[in-house]
Amino acid sequence: MGTQFAQLKQKLEEEKAILVQELQKVGRINPDNLADWEPVAADLNLDTAEEEERAGEITNFEDRSAVEFELEKRWNEVNAALTAIDAGTYGSCVVCNMDIEESRLLANPAATTCIAHME
Ligand SMILES: [Zn+2]
Repeated sequence: MGTQFAQLKQKLEEEKAILVQELQKVGRINPDNLADWEPVAADLNLDTAEEEERAGEITNFEDRSAVEFELEKRWNEVNAALTAIDAGTYGSCVVCNMDIEESRLLANPAATTCIAHME
């Protein structure tokens, strides 16, 4: 791993920790597949004080599933980037195999394409 990626790796680790915190609010790790998250229903058996405390929480299962899906998608991207750093394949565009611009990686350390090949 190039030393120039140390800062990006730290950013990815920090983002992953935040994603895990957010995922734990709407889901849980699939016990049958630790690389997978699944949405869980909100605990609705709360007393009034707890309900007020959790006023900002998403309780609708469809909404929780949608949030879980987006968080898990990003969690997978971040994990893939961390794996690529360890494997020494990080920072190359998956389309043209050229180095991904530093500005692009700073904006999105999980980017897998150069600016020309971003969606
Ligand atoms: Zn490219």
